[in-house]
Amino acid sequence: MQRLYNIYGSQGTKLVKRILKVMDLDLAAGMKVGIKPNLVLAKESSSGATTDPNLVAGVIEYLQEQGIEKITIMESAWVGAETEKVFEVCGYRELAAEYGVELYNLETDSTASYSTGEFELELFQKPRTVDYLINMPVLKAHCQTKMTCALKNLKGCIPDSEKRRFHTLGLHRPIAHLNSLLASDLIIVDGIIGDLTFEEGGNPVAMNRVVAGKDAVLVDSFVANLLGFGVEEISYIAYAEKLGLGSTDLKGAEIVNLNRSSEEQDGFSELMTAGAQKIARLAEYIQEQEACSACLGSLIHALQRIKDSYGLPNEAKVYIGQGFQEQEVEGIGSGSCLHQAESCIQGCPPTAKEIVDHLEKVWNL
Ligand code: SF4
Repeated sequence: MQRLYNIYGSQGTKLVKRILKVMDLDLAAGMKVGIKPNLVLAKESSSGATTDPNLVAGVIEYLQEQGIEKITIMESAWVGAETEKVFEVCGYRELAAEYGVELYNLETDSTASYSTGEFELELFQKPRTVDYLINMPVLKAHCQTKMTCALKNLKGCIPDSEKRRFHTLGLHRPIAHLNSLLASDLIIVDGIIGDLTFEEGGNPVAMNRVVAGKDAVLVDSFVANLLGFGVEEISYIAYAEKLGLGSTDLKGAEIVNLNRSSEEQDGFSELMTAGAQKIARLAEYIQEQEACSACLGSLIHALQRIKDSYGLPNEAKVYIGQGFQEQEVEGIGSGSCLHQAESCIQGCPPTAKEIVDHLEKVWNL
């Protein structure tokens, strides 16, 4: 049975080491390990756009403790961004120097063309030369493909000309095929801070969670639900499953929770409201008291998905947080600690998809 590992918290280094210690990983000293973060553009991870370097630090520490010395962080930023600048701004130059690992700008790499039967794709060579590839995407929504996570993060392993061509090919099918040429051995999703709607950040949602697994299709299926989407809504996930790259069967997978979300009660952090107008507007529909970050993040994503599909009903309110546990609540409560509410969305925390499904029913959407 495939397993997914989930842990809540905001201290990336500590969290990821806890996950890696309980996972059964086929790593050995002497291996060449590649780490592919999501460094799409020059914005710090607090923007919701890029992978938290503290999370990558935890991975490197773990690898070095296993006697692995050949570690390369590799990336090419999106079209129009300078990867060297991105490394600097996102804290990766400092990170690589601190741990003595290679930081490799894929833009300088040679490329080669490979056929998948349906597509001829141009890939950078370096990611294909490692013995073990660790894919470290960010949990975020995307304006074109609805979400971006493990499968789409490998787009950083193709040159700019190919990135542009992927758009003309409709993105979904080539993304799936790219993963047939370059497999991720381990996926660690930075769900500490992701973005509500765009790959480039700007509306950061603190979910304070990290998810890990070995099946990129399964990881993306799980993340789709965390963002409020049904797996069937994200075409590239289904294509990848058809290509035999993994499974979308979340019911057949074991979700291993390494702690409880109630360890992180941030409520609306300054980060989420400062300058993030979209989130401030959604906050008008939320009555919050001592909510855990993952729970609040789920609700914010769910409301955005409802807003995108139907618009939000006038004067709708959803209650959330442990602060309501002893109170009478007339209305909708999100999360099991609102079990006494007139209508409760069960789960601790519920996924955004579970919230969307519930609200569609009670609001007759
Ligand atoms: S249901 Fe309550 S305790 Fe559970 S995650 Fe939500 S706010 Fe936290």
